[in-house]
This record gives sequence, structure tokens and C-alpha cells, in this order.
Amino acid sequence: MSVVLEKISKSYNSLPALANLDLEVKKGEFHVLLGPSGSGKTTVISIIAGLTKQDKGAVIIGDCNVNDLPPEKRSVGFVFQDYAQFPHLSVFENVAYGLRVRKVKEKEIIQKVDCYLSKVGIEKERNKFPHQLSGGQKQRVALARALITEPEILLMDEPMSNLDVLTKEKIESELKKIQKETGVTTVYVTHNQDEAFALGDRVSVLNNGMIEQIESPDELFYHPKTEFVANFVGAKNILNVRVIESDQNTVVAQVNNKNLNNPLKIMLKKYPIFKTVNEINLCIHPENIFIKKENNCVKKSINKIKGKIIYTENNTSVTKATIDIGGINLYAAIPKKLFNFKLYETVFVCFNMDAPHPLCGKGCRDIEAHRKCVNKNNKME
Ligand code: ADP
Repeated sequence: MSVVLEKISKSYNSLPALANLDLEVKKGEFHVLLGPSGSGKTTVISIIAGLTKQDKGAVIIGDCNVNDLPPEKRSVGFVFQDYAQFPHLSVFENVAYGLRVRKVKEKEIIQKVDCYLSKVGIEKERNKFPHQLSGGQKQRVALARALITEPEILLMDEPMSNLDVLTKEKIESELKKIQKETGVTTVYVTHNQDEAFALGDRVSVLNNGMIEQIESPDELFYHPKTEFVANFVGAKNILNVRVIESDQNTVVAQVNNKNLNNPLKIMLKKYPIFKTVNEINLCIHPENIFIKKENNCVKKSINKIKGKIIYTENNTSVTKATIDIGGINLYAAIPKKLFNFKLYETVFVCFNMDAPHPLCGKGCRDIEAHRKCVNKNNKME
């Protein structure tokens, strides 16, 4: 079933947590709510579940307004971060619980519990108790418990945040598979961008009780609409530019970021939007920036900016470098084996002219939408 939230507002002690929020989760969709802590994600799913009552607005599940229905009448299943299991019951009985409450016959309970235990890969743990399980196994029990009553909607609140990376990746791929098999409409809360992109058919980015953008992971990643979303999906190089020259395929733009010390011009692909708008914010993914020791970024079409490395950080495969280009910083993510620079070394930051994307999502292709977005971005500054 689909879930629609219409103009939902919610305040706690007069402090707004959600403001006029609209959301449509399609039937069978895996929908991720992504946002920093405090952005309102838990409040949203708690309102869908009926555990929290909104101050204004409507919750519609399928064709029904469920505003006045208690949680148990909304056909929702939950999986929470803390696993929420009965410590004195075996895995079998924890999973069977929802069926026992519904007075299902014993034979059917046994059949169904065994079926769901094997679906989530914990049939061998059938007779163990929660304290004898690993975090990953507990999370599988929680998933089986939520699914066994065959809810129309599955709500998951940061369910993986206590798991190690390997277990998390394994459960993620299994969860996605089970979700597609069962077709259960899923709303999944996380603050982790990788998790959101691995799981979501679509992702809603929440900021301060409002949805900034709803999109497929690819669209969100390559075409963020706002500075907040760009930062959240890792495209954290934001340049405010004004076009000063233009030919058929390229434009030359002046970078206008507030703290920039020296005048700086860059060359850009001529996106359709430049036909009507000449001042705009752009984002560049750190992966699309490379660093050279000399001013020899080969092709003429490549932008080269002198700067100094002021910070580096390694993860398993990538070195992240912060480069001061004269009052503002650019962020690069370079494959570790290609990174042979020292901290405080003077370098040249290079990027192709199509690396920067106008901050307007699909609007880059749709001039009217882009114009609206530019106005909004200008107002936000
Ligand atoms: P998230 O899940 O994104 O971390 P929440 O929905 O939990 O965000 O919280 C949104 C805002 O509402 C936060 O500012 C939080 O402090 C506040 N809040 C949430 N629940 C309560 C509550 N029961 N009482 C008071 N404030 C709350």
C-alpha cells in the first residue's frame, strides 16, 4: 500500500519538529528518510505508525485516512535500532509473538515462524535466547518479527546503526531482496548516506523538519538541488559563479564565493540554464577533483587552480585532501595509491569543465524549474 503524508506539522513543547511536510511513498517502494540527527525522521515514521499524533495534516495509507486509527489497526510492522526483543523468550517465541497475539493456530505458527526464520537466515538460532545472539542475528530476529504478521507497511528506524560494516552490508543486501520478494512498502530511517543509497528506491532528504529533495539515489547524488543536499551526499565543493563569457559549448565564469581572496575564473560546460541565468551555485564532487604538483593539468579544457594542502585524511582506499585556494577550501578524494603529496605542499587543483553541476537537480535540464530553484537559493543566502 502507498503511504501519503499531507501537510503534516508537529511541535514538541511549542518547538516545531515537522512543518507542513508532504510525502508520498509508493506502493512496494523502499523509501529512505535520510537526514542528520534531529531533522525529524523518527517523528515522521512514528506519525505513520500512529505512535505519535501530528498536530495538523493527514496520514493516508492506501485509500484510507488513518488519522484516527490506533497503531495496531494500521497494518504496520516495525524494526528499531535497539532490536526490542523479549529477553526471556526464545528466538522462535520472539518471532511467533505477533501470531500468538492474533490467536493463530499452533500448526500455522510453526510453519510461518520456520519460514520467516529461514527467509532471514537464522533457522539455526531457533532455540537460542536473545543474549546468545550477535547484533546481526538480533537484527534478523527483529526483521522476522516485523514481517511475520505480513504488514502492508514496514517501518525501520536506524536498524543497522549498531552493526559492524561487514554484517551491515550482508544484511542490507538480504533486506533489499526480502523487501522485493514480499513487496512490502518500506520506510527506512538513517543518517548514513551510503546506507540510504544502497537500499533506497527513492530517498527523501530531511533538514530541520522539511524535505529538501526526494529522488532516486543516482539523481540525488549527481543532481542535488540545494547546498544542504549537496553537502549531505558528499558534493561539498560549492562555488557561487557569475557567467562573464559564453560561446556555443562553454562558458567562462567568475567565482564569487564570499571569502575568496583573489579573482578566480573557471571554464564550465554550457548547461541549458546558462541561456537564462548567469549567476548560480555549483557543486563539485570531491572524486572529480584531481591534484597536480605542476601547472600541467594537460588539456586546455581543464580548470587549474593554485592552492595549498591544509588537511589530509585516509580511509581504506581514498585520501581526502582539503586544499586552500585562497580563502576558500576545495575538497578532493584521490585514490590512495595516486596520492603523493605532503601536508602544506603547494599544488594545482584540476577539474574538467563538466565536473561542476548547477545546484538545481533535474532543473539543469528544465529551465523553468531551475529559475525557481535559483530564486530559492538566492533567498537562502
Ligand atoms: P531524528 O529522527 O531525525 O533524529 P526526531 O524526529 O527524533 O529527529 O526529532 C526531531 C526534533 O524533535 C528534535 O529537535 C528532537 O529533539 C525533537 N523531539 C523528538 N521527540 C521529542 C519528544 N518526545 N519530546 C520533545 N522533543 C522531541
